[in-house]
Amino acid sequence: ELITQRNHTRKTEGDAIEPTVFVPVHRAEEVQQQRSKLPIFGEEQAVIEAVRENPVVIVAGETGSGKTTQVPQFLYEAGYALKGMIGVTEPRRVAAISMSQRVAYEMSLSKDIVSYQIRYDGNVTPDTKIKFMTDGVLLKEIQKDFLLKSYSVIILDEAHERSVFTDVLIGLLSRILPIRAKRGPPLKLLIMSATLRIEDFVENTRLFRSPPPVITVDSRQFPVTVHFNKQTPSDYVEEAFRKVCKIHRRLPEGGILIFLTGQQEVNHLCRLLKRTFPFHATLDSEDNVDSQLDKTIKAVKHKRHKVPLVHLEDFPLVPLDEQTGDEDLGLGDDELLDDDMDSFLSNCQSGLKEQPIHVLPLYSILPSHRQAEVFKDPPEGSRLCVVATNVAETSLTIPHIKYVVDCGKQKMRVYDQVTGVSTFHVDWTSQASANQRAGRAGRVGPGHCYRLYSSAVFKDEMQIYSEAEIQRKPIDDLLLQMKALNIRKVCNFPFPSPPKQENIEAAERRLILLGALEDNGKGDFASGITGLGMTMASLPVSPRFGKMLSLSHQQGLLPLAVWLVAAMTVPELLLERPLTTGNAQTSAGPDKDDRKRLQALRCTWVGQGDSLLLGDAMVLLKAVGAAEHASCSGPRSLSKFCAKYGLREKAVIEVRKLRRQLTSEINLLLPNANLPLDPFLQPPTPDQMRLLRQLLLSGLVDQVAKKMGPGPEREKKQLKRAYQMLGMEDPAWIHPSSVLFTSSPEFLIFLEAFQSNKVYLRGVVAIEPEWLPTFAPKQCNILTPLEDPPPSYDSEGDRVVCWVTGTFGKEAWELPRVRI
Ligand code: ADP
Ligand code: MG
Repeated sequence: ELITQRNHTRKTEGDAIEPTVFVPVHRAEEVQQQRSKLPIFGEEQAVIEAVRENPVVIVAGETGSGKTTQVPQFLYEAGYALKGMIGVTEPRRVAAISMSQRVAYEMSLSKDIVSYQIRYDGNVTPDTKIKFMTDGVLLKEIQKDFLLKSYSVIILDEAHERSVFTDVLIGLLSRILPIRAKRGPPLKLLIMSATLRIEDFVENTRLFRSPPPVITVDSRQFPVTVHFNKQTPSDYVEEAFRKVCKIHRRLPEGGILIFLTGQQEVNHLCRLLKRTFPFHATLDSEDNVDSQLDKTIKAVKHKRHKVPLVHLEDFPLVPLDEQTGDEDLGLGDDELLDDDMDSFLSNCQSGLKEQPIHVLPLYSILPSHRQAEVFKDPPEGSRLCVVATNVAETSLTIPHIKYVVDCGKQKMRVYDQVTGVSTFHVDWTSQASANQRAGRAGRVGPGHCYRLYSSAVFKDEMQIYSEAEIQRKPIDDLLLQMKALNIRKVCNFPFPSPPKQENIEAAERRLILLGALEDNGKGDFASGITGLGMTMASLPVSPRFGKMLSLSHQQGLLPLAVWLVAAMTVPELLLERPLTTGNAQTSAGPDKDDRKRLQALRCTWVGQGDSLLLGDAMVLLKAVGAAEHASCSGPRSLSKFCAKYGLREKAVIEVRKLRRQLTSEINLLLPNANLPLDPFLQPPTPDQMRLLRQLLLSGLVDQVAKKMGPGPEREKKQLKRAYQMLGMEDPAWIHPSSVLFTSSPEFLIFLEAFQSNKVYLRGVVAIEPEWLPTFAPKQCNILTPLEDPPPSYDSEGDRVVCWVTGTFGKEAWELPRVRI
């Protein structure tokens, strides 16, 4: 039950009521008008009063009600930026950047005052008053200053998304607030969320002693009529296309928002739509789809009958059984609005020009300027149609949307906690997400949501809520951060929803293997952090990469390691085929030969010998090195380079930023390093290539694979070039996109094991087995030191060189005779 508490009488000790202040803000007329229409606008007083009188306040309201853009402004005007910053965290980087820009614009303030900070980019200045950041950034800041003294308020936005870092921040802040209340000045916490499952925060007595007040924003959500498909189609992209065609041709004005699961689907549908509804096309085009649709329209016209529509008045809090049961009501796929049908048909008959569609893709790795397109008005006379992944579900509100087409699925990365193999699963979303998606149609007026699945799927297949991220992702990074904060027994931490014990244990074991946590031998999962672990935790990369960087100050490897780690951290730097350009009206689709061409090119980049053994890491080094070089030769030269060589330009720029950030952090940690900020990458020498392979091994000690030996004859063919991974029975194969695919070394390390039709290894680097006792000693069982040749001793009588034999891992892979 959500409660709105307007008369807060409770006061917490040490939390005196502050005098009322008002900091004037200048806003443009147009901005003023827009904000006055937002549902949250009437709640300013309630929000400010609640914050004044309580250490923690929860603000719950539908997406688009104005929480993110307005609440920081309310607090600013109430003087909260006078004594410290107003910090706002977002789980998504896209939101942190675009919201800081929006708020700066609304308040007529510069980006020096309303700024953002994401992992490797930001425009924060000493004058910053409102700081948008990703939740991971704030967690890092807590490590440096546990009491967050530079802030007067922290707003945790999108708490319903239940991202790992936001969950942990809630737990940490529940401990920081009482200390700040005692020592002053008090810190305030606002938790903002869509109206979903806020009980986890409100009623969790481990978190807050008394339940914080909840301000619910009554959103002026218009009714959204939900239409289920009678049957669930096998190809939802095609089905989405059919549905959009129908909506566009038959239903009145209003933007269409389509939810698909991934970038490729989004681009595919965009192409189909652009081809079908080009600008200035006429209806007499001979497109197959058109004539087929005409037939359908006639058929529908024939069986047209009045159907009752179920309105979700109080969206989405309607009990399930009151939602549309299409079968019962006779609402089929071909249900139409009668009046529009008539006008459409008369349009068809008069052969009028068809209205063009303004098609825009939206997914998280799309360049920001193209993401921002969705906020602009569509060209005169065209209909806006945004094809999105679930970034459009809650974090960004797209204006003008009246129709939502929802495939009902989402792509999720699923990790096997035991083996570390990850898979992308396309699976049903939760009912809560489906309702969020539908709600996007009710912002400008009554809307419609077309669900491309049956109501039975909704009722029987979809979970009510999605699991919190902390319960399904590996938490190595998080665990290390918490240990660095001296939280040893992580299982006792007040998480809003605790991670599974087995995940904590698996992460702890991996961190012990990496040497980041002490191996106290007790197996109590309460290990303390080591010196190496502290260094790793202070670097803004995952623990594995942190270890590589921490060790790379030796042998002059630091500059190369910084380039390499930056390139390995940014996702999808190398594309398997070039991205299609978004503005091409008609595109023949991606060229199949492109994939082969890129593959061949990458093989020539690495060549042979030591360079080939460095494998996919060498490709990354070459790619970023050459891209930086190219970017100096004039405007747009980087774009041209990226298009030619199949690099994602946005990723190259992210790598550059991350590289700069890592450089400055390392210069702080190691004042003697004196790493120059923007050097050109000197290609590694053969010696350095070997050392880099060892460095990579030091961070990937548990991601080692060994080529399978020759087995029984009948299996030989099947298991050709198969590998055995540590702790995994099933065989794995090097992914064909790897440059080591054909040479297939005996021992290798990999960045990622990925399951599709079989288990593939990506980001592959060859290693020498004799390195294992040195770089992965915890997994080696060293047998008798060999006395032949006899070990040599130094002057103190300590043995310095000896030969050993042994095995590696539980699989007991035999190690060659190794000299240590
Ligand atoms: P909430 O956080 O409650 O979901 P927001 O504060 O994000 O709501 O959005 C409030 C309104 O501001 C929405 O109508 C949205 O379309 C609009 N808006 C947000 N960002 C922009 C932008 N960059 N340009 C134009 N309008 C925007
Ligand atoms: Mg928001």
